[in-house]
Amino acid sequence: MDMLINGTAVPATDEARIKVINPATGECIDTVPRGSGTDVNAAVDAADAAFGTWSEKTTRDRGLILFRAAELVRRDHKDLARLLTQEQGKPLKESIDEVRGCANILEYYASISGQPAGEAVHLGKAGDCLVTRVPLGVCGAIIPWNMPVIIMGWKLGPALLAGNTLVLKPASTTPLTNLRIAGLLQEAGLPHGVLNVVTGPGETVGAALVKHPRVKKISFTGDCATGHRIRQMAKDHLKTLTLELGGSDPMIVMADADISKAVDGALRGRFYNAGQVCTAVKRLYLHEKIAEEFMHLLIARVESLTIGNGLLPATDMGPLNNREQLERISSLVREVAEQEEGTISTGGSPKTGSAYKDGFFYQPTLITDVAPDAALLKNEVFGPVLPVMTVPDLSAAIREANRSRYGLGASIWTRDISTIKEVYQRVNAGIVWVNRHLTIPPEVPFGGTNESGIGRENGFHALDSYTQTKTLYLGW
Ligand code: NAD
Repeated sequence: MDMLINGTAVPATDEARIKVINPATGECIDTVPRGSGTDVNAAVDAADAAFGTWSEKTTRDRGLILFRAAELVRRDHKDLARLLTQEQGKPLKESIDEVRGCANILEYYASISGQPAGEAVHLGKAGDCLVTRVPLGVCGAIIPWNMPVIIMGWKLGPALLAGNTLVLKPASTTPLTNLRIAGLLQEAGLPHGVLNVVTGPGETVGAALVKHPRVKKISFTGDCATGHRIRQMAKDHLKTLTLELGGSDPMIVMADADISKAVDGALRGRFYNAGQVCTAVKRLYLHEKIAEEFMHLLIARVESLTIGNGLLPATDMGPLNNREQLERISSLVREVAEQEEGTISTGGSPKTGSAYKDGFFYQPTLITDVAPDAALLKNEVFGPVLPVMTVPDLSAAIREANRSRYGLGASIWTRDISTIKEVYQRVNAGIVWVNRHLTIPPEVPFGGTNESGIGRENGFHALDSYTQTKTLYLGW
């Protein structure tokens, strides 16, 4: 597939291409251009030229295009999901969820297009003020490989509804579904130049987008270290930034919890998308009274997961997205064993066997007796590895949950309202779930504190972040 600039498919200026590899088989399924700064400049020029007409449309007209795009994504959801599984690795049922989730987001933003945005302020004899919200201009969206379709929706929906134009840079291992969805937006009636997609490495294409003086906002989702680099690069032009970075979400299970429901929650919370989710359960804290029973059930469930190519109907967990990620997870768990920082209860190595030999498969892994300062707890573990700790009471659980530089999500599993209140008030996180983990509805703000980032996706909060106020002061 080629890039999309000004409504036209564009190959790279220097003809270089990037291979897109199926992580389940190691096979090359397609190539995309290795774009360059020149391509970014062309895309920003196209977005800049399209801004005037697009921003002058009514919000309702822009919403109608988003509605149509949501319908087209639903129409093609099976093909899109298949493509997503082939480039990303996740099981087909998860890809279908993700593609439908993207349609839901576009539809949600379309549905709020009729809502008033702005305010009127009466100043007595001094006059009246009319405060409107205007779009920022050309925005840049930088997408990671773990949930590329839903994250594309999180950025497109509010940015386009607010009247901005966009240059989107997909991750190099998962550009295909993003390009296909950009094509559907054109089919839905999006004018040329409003959405442009430039493929290529983060260090060149991503950096050129961040540094471009005419790009007013960057919305980035990805690694913490990249987020810090982007913040540095963006500072010369005073850009608005939304940075959705990593997480190390704690899940706390108290003695009064519904254990069977909590085991389901831990299984899905950690092993969905092979653990490559920013808000995955990354640290599990079990009350000591239920720890043994819980682990007995969890180990059995983990060992019964079917690992395989995401296109096979029986697959519960697919491969990791890329070889680098497989090596990172493998070496992290090896270090735990070598440095005696924990006991591997199940899993602990790449998946072996002829069905797995060319892919990037790792076994779902549980680690107990974890040393309090283990790297596993300090850093984000972006794969199917779950450290499990036992705590004597709620205070200890909250203290341990807060021993992290991140603060994205957290969950508490209990039936007790005062426990819920305590966790909600004291745990550092952008979202606290009760008796569930991972659900991210389009209507509510999503994002974290501390090293998990700045700004929010979803809801009116994201829409606001793609606008600025403009005030008309009427001195009667
Ligand atoms: P990454 O930071 O390596 O890459 C993300 C994107 O940034 C890619 O498109 C990449 O090409 C681009 N990029 C890389 N270097 C760049 C640079 N110097 N300038 C501009 N762009 C650059 O992250 P990843 O490995 O693709 O994604 C996994 C990470 O994303 C995990 O840490 C995960 O927690 C995080 N994540 C966070 C959220 C959230 O909402 N908080 C959601 C999903 C993923």
